[in-house]
This record gives sequence, C-alpha cells and structure tokens, in this order.
Amino acid sequence: MEWKSIKGTLMKDVPMKRYTSMKVGGQAAFLAYPTDETDLADTLQFAGDKGIGYRFLGNGTNVIVSDKGINETLIRITKMKHTRYIKTKWGALADVSGGVSLRAFIKDTAQKGLSGLEKLYWIPGTVGGGIKMNAGSFGQSISDTLEEIRLINGKSAISTLTKDQLQFGYRKSPVHRSDCVISARFALKNRDKKEMLRDMDYVYSERKKRHPMEYPSAGSVFKSVGSEPAWKLIEKAGLKGFSLGGAQVSEKHTNFIVNLGWAKAQDIKDLIERIKKEVYEKLGVTLVEEVELWGFNG
Ligand SMILES: Cc1cc2nc3c(=O)[nH]c(=O)nc-3n(C[C@H](O)[C@H](O)[C@H](O)COP(=O)(O)OP(=O)(O)OC[C@H]3O[C@@H](n4cnc5c(N)ncnc54)[C@H](O)[C@@H]3O)c2cc1C
Repeated sequence: MEWKSIKGTLMKDVPMKRYTSMKVGGQAAFLAYPTDETDLADTLQFAGDKGIGYRFLGNGTNVIVSDKGINETLIRITKMKHTRYIKTKWGALADVSGGVSLRAFIKDTAQKGLSGLEKLYWIPGTVGGGIKMNAGSFGQSISDTLEEIRLINGKSAISTLTKDQLQFGYRKSPVHRSDCVISARFALKNRDKKEMLRDMDYVYSERKKRHPMEYPSAGSVFKSVGSEPAWKLIEKAGLKGFSLGGAQVSEKHTNFIVNLGWAKAQDIKDLIERIKKEVYEKLGVTLVEEVELWGFNG
C-alpha cells in the first residue's frame, strides 16, 4: 500500500510527548488518522507492507513511550466519529465509535438521561482505549453496560463480539493488541437527567480532590493487589513524594507518578522499578503495572 493511497492523515517521525498525557517519549515511526473503515484497512495494509509493527493509540492516557521511541505505525481512529442511539422501552442502545472521547460520550448520554457510564466521567481516554483497559472508577467499569463490540484485526477482518463472548476482568479485556475496537454498543437505562448531572459533578469534584490533575501523568500506575489499593502500599513503603530525575511519586495520590516538567521516560521507568523493589522488600507484595510501557525492551 502506497503512502498516497491513505485518505486520512499520515505523519512520519512523530514525537510521542505530544500525544501522551505523560508528555514524554521519543518518536513513533508513523502516526495515522484513517478517515473511515476502508481507510483503516488500507492503513493496516500500509503498516504490514512497511514490515514494522502497529499499535492503536487512543488519547495516550495510559501509555508511556520510551525516550528512544518506537519503530511502529500508530493508528488513531479519533477522526472516525459517530454516536447513534436506538430507543428501547427501558432506555437506549448507544452505538459509538471507538475513537470518541469517553468524557464527551458520557456528557452526551447524560444530556439524553441515559444512565450506566456516569461514574466513569472524566476518565481522559477514548471509548476504544477504555474498553481495551476495561477502565473503571467509583465501582463502575466500562464493561458493565457493554452489549457488543466491533473489531478489526491486522488482516482487516471485521468481527462483532456480543457480551456473552467477552470476558472482562479488573483492568483486563479480551481485546488483543492487534485488534482495534472500531465501535461499541452500550445498553443504557433511563434516569433523571438532573440526578445524573449531579452524580457527574460529584465524580469530577472527587477526582479533582484526589488526583494531581495539575501535572502530566498517566493515571494510576499500578493495579490494586486484591482489595488493597496500590496507593496504600506505596505510601506504607514510605515513597510519598519520592522522586528520580523529573519523575515523582505524587504527594496527592501515591499511585500516580507525575512529570514535574523535565522528566525523561527513563526517569519514569526507573521510578516504577524502584517502587516495585521497595514495596516488595518492605511489604513482600509484587506490584503489577496498569500503565503500558512501549519501546523499553531491546
Ligand atoms: C489523570 C488521569 C486519570 C485517570 N483515571 C482513570 C480512572 O479513574 N480509571 C481508569 O481505569 N483509568 C484511568 N486513567 C487511565 C486511562 O485514562 C484509561 O486507561 C483509558 O481508558 C485509556 O484510554 P486511551 O484512549 O487514552 O488509551 P491509550 O492510552 O491511548 O491506550 C491504552 C491501550 O488501549 C489500546 N487502544 C487504544 N485505542 C484502542 C482502540 N480503538 N481499539 C483497541 N485498542 C485500543 C492501546 O493500544 C493501549 O493498549 C487515568 C489517566 C489519567 C491521565
């Protein structure tokens, strides 16, 4: 597939610090914005023809890219936007593109008085990234109201999986790295619009209180260990405020690593390793990353 055959935008040597919320990282070989499903299939073929790997990038709020970058084609479907509602007796089925911002989508559902996602309000990712991570907050997960997803794989084959074919877990989904969530269908129930907006205001104010929103970050770095939140373990290990280079264990929320402004990706990686080591040595617990680290091996 020729570069010029791609209808959407295709960029070369793209600095990842501009495309990730942690604001670090070297260049990605290519970054593509397909305009529709045919273009997405062509982009996948382009990546295959280049003989390099590809990945899907949403809003880059859960990934940390290494300083040396990644020799891969990153594909963002954030220009392939649609949201459609099919009314039912109890509410609606909402069909939404994987590239739509979760925040915008949830706001829209609240305007329509359709409930089921409001506790995820203000998670800064896309619908597709949220499904891949099975994002959640305040006891609600994106998979709770999911009815089906449409996927495209590296061979450009499209499939639809219904909820009984999908096994989600805590921050775990059945979506493979090679598959893109093109769109999703949620079953949302009727609820009073004012009550929904009130809950969303509460969620936002709690997040503002608890999260260091004033610094670049990738959200929670580690998964909870059983019922023990990772922030408690990190705090118990005495690491609150601990820093390496420009990366710091947030004073406000110890499961966040913040970029003080001059962090290298390697500072963040080193801090992650240091936290794991200290928590293991002091508390005998192995922490597992929730964030994805791209391009650090080899
Ligand atoms: C301030 C802050 C607060 C956060 N709070 C929360 C929270 O409360 N709860 C929570 O769960 N997370 C939270 N996060 C983490 C993050 O926002 C979520 O994991 C989010 O779902 C990631 O979405 P994204 O679009 O940014 O995905 P990206 O970071 O771009 O990608 C994450 C993964 O999803 C894959 N992916 C992206 N798009 C697609 C697609 N269309 N199809 C298939 N795979 C895809 C990527 O390849 C990658 O594997 C927070 C992050 C920040 C910065």
